Amino acid sequence: MSRRTKIYEGKAKILYEGPEPGTLIQYFKDDATAFNAEKKGTINGKGVINNRISEHVFTRLAHIGIPTHFIRRLNMREQLIRQVDIIPLEVVLRNVAAGSISKRLGIEEGEPLPHTLIEYYYKDDALGDPLVAEEHIACFNWASNEEMHDISSMAIRINDFLCGMFAAIDIRLVDFKLEFGRLYDGDYSRVILADEISPDGCRLWDMTTGEKLDKDRFRRDLGGEEEAYREVARRLGLLNGEDNSPGEVFDLSHARSRLRGPPPLKK
Ligand code: 5GP
Repeated sequence: MSRRTKIYEGKAKILYEGPEPGTLIQYFKDDATAFNAEKKGTINGKGVINNRISEHVFTRLAHIGIPTHFIRRLNMREQLIRQVDIIPLEVVLRNVAAGSISKRLGIEEGEPLPHTLIEYYYKDDALGDPLVAEEHIACFNWASNEEMHDISSMAIRINDFLCGMFAAIDIRLVDFKLEFGRLYDGDYSRVILADEISPDGCRLWDMTTGEKLDKDRFRRDLGGEEEAYREVARRLGLLNGEDNSPGEVFDLSHARSRLRGPPPLKK
């Protein structure tokens, strides 16, 4: 039995006290939820894959100068991170219309947006994470103007970098969610990237076939979520001892036979 102190348990992750002050251990679960936890399930091996993908992405982002909470991966499901005060905003970047923006504004899924959109959602499960304007953020003091400036400029850089990283492995980064936190140094704090970046919080479409390689497979009962998450990791070259070569045709046909939803969109 673990004698570690649990700090927080979320839908897909658990945070434990870290070995040193100012650190935490982030544990990735296989649990999956959607629609504000109305739909619950498990994606076998998701925690292991997301831990690896998020490590890779955060490491690459650190190389281009994005400050992050990631310190190092500890094992298959855990990583050591810096403890931050999470800013209560989900920062969503959109390159192509899909999901809630398509529903809210009646834009067909797959329609490229004239330019990248940044949206902010107030993190509150009881309210269903409502979309908010920067005026609300300032009015209720969820983040300062200076913090919002840092958040939006980092978010744009992250989007540019990740679009290229995924395009190189034939994946379109449709949209994704980021979270940021305050790292304190005495009275002073600065904003750094926190949480995770994985197929749980991104829409990733195969550029050739339009196949969805992300959590929408679970949300929309498309089946094949384990294979899709593994495929993203494989293309990123993260599956040790397995064939990481690019260009191999990704076949979700056996998953498709379990399809309960509409057939995948061809984009
Ligand atoms: P939408 O607003 O269309 O539902 O989501 C936009 C993007 O943000 C999608 O890539 C989605 O995965 C991500 N996203 C939005 N809210 C959440 C959330 O609460 N959890 C996770 N994991 N991703 C989210």
